[in-house]
Amino acid sequence: MEIAIISHDGKKAEMVQFLNEHKSVLESKGIQLISTGTTGIKAEKAGFKITKMLSGPYGGDAQIAARVAEGKTNMVLFFRDPLEKHPHEPDIFMLMRLCDVYDVPLATNPATAELLIKAI
Ligand code: PGA
Repeated sequence: MEIAIISHDGKKAEMVQFLNEHKSVLESKGIQLISTGTTGIKAEKAGFKITKMLSGPYGGDAQIAARVAEGKTNMVLFFRDPLEKHPHEPDIFMLMRLCDVYDVPLATNPATAELLIKAI
């Protein structure tokens, strides 16, 4: 199972905390983690093995959206920051739309991510 992790700058610390809290589940279920670039760097520094796409504003969300469309990514945990503006808003909407098109579970905040991770 491939899970994509994305976090906006204001949510990166929370994302790392989330990964640490769920480290045993993520490792025991043999989950492959992928992420946008900077999110991935933070996860690697916390000791996680993760495949990094481009940074979000440079196309990372679009790359993950393509993997959702191709059936490669099975879940998206997206720690969005609703209080900031993002230059790559169109890519973010594309990713969310494709999750809906392909019925791929998508969390857009930590509380939902928590529920999804408990379900796997
Ligand atoms: P980042 O991208 O992990 O490269 O910061 C996240 C995003 O803004 O979508």
